[in-house]
Amino acid sequence: MVRAMPDTTLIDEARSRAQGIIALRRAIHAEPELGLMTPRTSAKVRAALAHLPLEWREGPSTSGMIAILKGGAGTNTRNGGRSVLLRGDMDALPMPEETGLPFASTVAGAMHACGHDAHTAMLAGAAELLCARSTSLKGEVRFMFQPGEEGFHGARFMLDDGLLGGGLLDPLPDAAFALHVMPNAPHGIVAGRAGPLLAAADMIEITVEGAGGHASMPHQTRDPVPVACEIVTALQTLVTRQFNAHDPVVITVASINAGSTHNVIPDRAVLRGTMRSLSAENRARLGDSVRLLAVGIAGAHGLTAEVTIEEGFPVTICDSRAVDFGEVTARALFGEQAFLRLADPIMGAEDFAYVLDKVPGAMFFLGVAPQGDNWASCCGIHSTRMMLDEAVLPQGAALLAGLAERFLETGFAA
Ligand SMILES: [Zn+2]
Ligand SMILES: [Zn+2]
Repeated sequence: MVRAMPDTTLIDEARSRAQGIIALRRAIHAEPELGLMTPRTSAKVRAALAHLPLEWREGPSTSGMIAILKGGAGTNTRNGGRSVLLRGDMDALPMPEETGLPFASTVAGAMHACGHDAHTAMLAGAAELLCARSTSLKGEVRFMFQPGEEGFHGARFMLDDGLLGGGLLDPLPDAAFALHVMPNAPHGIVAGRAGPLLAAADMIEITVEGAGGHASMPHQTRDPVPVACEIVTALQTLVTRQFNAHDPVVITVASINAGSTHNVIPDRAVLRGTMRSLSAENRARLGDSVRLLAVGIAGAHGLTAEVTIEEGFPVTICDSRAVDFGEVTARALFGEQAFLRLADPIMGAEDFAYVLDKVPGAMFFLGVAPQGDNWASCCGIHSTRMMLDEAVLPQGAALLAGLAERFLETGFAA
């Protein structure tokens, strides 16, 4: 079999810009911001890209920004040209940092432990790469700098603010791509899968209401503790007996709170946990099933249960054409070994799901373990000691730029 040599032009150009990409990443890392408003991070991005011919859009709900680059090859979204969206998230996590890095967080209780600092820097790097090629770009690139990924629905707010388009005169982009770094995946490997990539994640809280009293006379009380325990166990039976093993769901009760001492039966017990699912059908059914089960078990013992479900992100579903396209692009840029098909989804969640619900596209993982290290032993995302090999960041910028450039040229038919 004849294998094409990878086209190294983009990666070479990206490597020549490595210093700028890494400097931006470190500046963002040192000053992490949480939630939907990340003004200092947004300002750093604006300053880094101020010299480029980009059109900027902002909305009222977040500090998110869309930077638009109009290609100069005679096509635009009005005369049949394509548009493509690239997304990087900007927010950090409310947790301490223990990396000991010289550019570690200077904000107590906040850390970029999910790599969003790297995502933003790679996206800014892609903007530089694509601006340098703008005269030959056949269409429009929209760079989405998004805050509020860590549970704040930032992507949905930006969609609702109309920043991604959606009207007749300003249609949604034709494709959308995002990268997520993985510190415990092999150096420089790009990975993805068609269909569900990440799960829907909803929060559950179950309050079992009884009537407390003396621990020696439980018959004079309505003890919520054994009832809560029964619910915890029954939830696991519910998962295996009511849901198809080929369309998995996960329920974890991660917190149980009841009582204050050894000889008092408390009035109530509160369970908190997460529900994960990979299809909209299961997601909808899960909530109803949990409610029925908790209320039923409590009722059977003469107690009551109240179930509150707080909706998190929906399932992240990657378009199979976009994943094929990503695979071809990654191999063309970095060589045959660069792309890995994931056999299974990951039960984590990602608010890029909202974008992929409206626009065909894909999220890919990018392995950022140090070269030659035992990648499996590296600290994963959301660890206080999470680190990444910055040498991979130019590759991420090149991949984002390559996805956009090639999509504008050929659509998904790469
Ligand atoms: Zn995260
Ligand atoms: Zn993340």
